[in-house]
Amino acid sequence: QDGTHIEFDELKNKIKSFPLCMKLIYEKLIQDHHLKHQGRIQLGLFLKGIGLSVHDSIRFWKQEFLKKMTEKDFEKDYIYGIKYNYGLEGKRVNWSPYSCPKIIGLKPAPDDFSGCPFKFLSTHNFKQILLNLEQKPNEEQINELISLKEGGHCQVACQRYWDLVHPGLDEPLNKLSGIEHPNSYFKYSEEYYE
Ligand code: SF4
Repeated sequence: QDGTHIEFDELKNKIKSFPLCMKLIYEKLIQDHHLKHQGRIQLGLFLKGIGLSVHDSIRFWKQEFLKKMTEKDFEKDYIYGIKYNYGLEGKRVNWSPYSCPKIIGLKPAPDDFSGCPFKFLSTHNFKQILLNLEQKPNEEQINELISLKEGGHCQVACQRYWDLVHPGLDEPLNKLSGIEHPNSYFKYSEEYYE
């Protein structure tokens, strides 16, 4: 969207910069070799936003989907949707990646990991994710995140989560008032790792 470009082969190294919403959809894709419609759009537009070309996007989806279906079926059922996201099919609109408010407003089906995890995850599952993080949160951080999540403050919780998984900054991101967009989360993270 802002002129950045990411090659297919670089993508694996960028997963650590995905916000939790995209990371969970991505993990679901790797686990099931498939994703439902809403998850495909949410993740697909995010990938477009971080600079993946339509060509590499097709490679990305193919890599997983072909573990469970033939190339012919993939081309028949999924190429159109990928190209549609890039404005190359249907209405030919250059669709923007979903913002946080848009994602928070989505209604994911029970086994569909689309939407915002700060909204749809149970407190138990959310806590498990925090406990499994490489950057071990302390009890105070866990309690703060859970209370923000339970209070419905998804974007502020996401920002605190960002601070947690990107430690050691002089000026943590939490001076901002909340993550506004998954692609901003990604951009801040990329800057952190540079
Ligand atoms: Fe994704 Fe935004 Fe939710 Fe963070 S607040 S997990 S970036 S939708």
